[in-house]
Amino acid sequence: MNTEHTTFAPDKRPPADGSANVLEAAGVSASYGPRTILQSLDLGVRPGEVYALLGANGAGKTTTLSLFLGFVVPDGGRVRVNGIDPVTRAGEARRQLAYIPENVAFYEQLSARENVAYLLDLAGQGAGSDRIDRALASAGLDATAFDRRVGGFSKGMRQKVAIALALAREVPALLLDEPTSGLDPQATYEFNRLLGLLREKGIATLMVTHDLLGASEVADRIGFLGAGQLEEEVAAEGAERFDVRSLHRRYAGRAA
Ligand code: ATP
Repeated sequence: MNTEHTTFAPDKRPPADGSANVLEAAGVSASYGPRTILQSLDLGVRPGEVYALLGANGAGKTTTLSLFLGFVVPDGGRVRVNGIDPVTRAGEARRQLAYIPENVAFYEQLSARENVAYLLDLAGQGAGSDRIDRALASAGLDATAFDRRVGGFSKGMRQKVAIALALAREVPALLLDEPTSGLDPQATYEFNRLLGLLREKGIATLMVTHDLLGASEVADRIGFLGAGQLEEEVAAEGAERFDVRSLHRRYAGRAA
């Protein structure tokens, strides 16, 4: 066991409300004006689980992430982040979460180290340089890049900095929007390795993606969103994990 593992292990106790899920949506409906996007959505992500949420364009995947961030207020149902309601206790709920959008924004003129230090300070969780360096190393960023300006970083390197920040913040939950789109195979491989690390640390990861094959390689469960709710949910099982061909046929049929 390496030292980072113990240093960054988040609190693995179940959420205070007794739920087994760190991220939980139960019977949730949500709309934009008159347009209903989610209807009776039930979704839960447990500690140490990687959950991939798939669905056609416009199915409501990003809206689902926004629910956990408290950016979308549900019309009905229950949303909890580590037992906390993101609408009534937004600040507390967000402290439980790291959100990594498709294109991660950083202070381009600052180095990787400076970005993590500054963003940790903003989150009220200032940390010493040792801790920041350990987080960057755990996230797989090459040490030669720690002091380089983020402005010159690739998408894969930016993601590593964002994950380092999540590790340093010791959040129990991570939200990822299309994390592998635009990554080359090597960066995708490294990203998948990082998901394994997050799982080991007991972080509940909810990942929105269109990449069924990638999801089948890394996810513990895959959920298909359609008609505002989870139409199907499949758990990894055995050495093959998922029957990708059959999932693909069903997914392509739905997304068409
Ligand atoms: P994609 O795969 O294309 O990213 P998605 O599954 O993430 O899609 P959402 O972004 O959650 O889908 O959007 C669901 C629907 O809600 C879409 O039809 C979208 O146009 C609409 N929508 C999203 N955000 C808003 C908003 N702020 N106001 C009004 N409509 C919105």
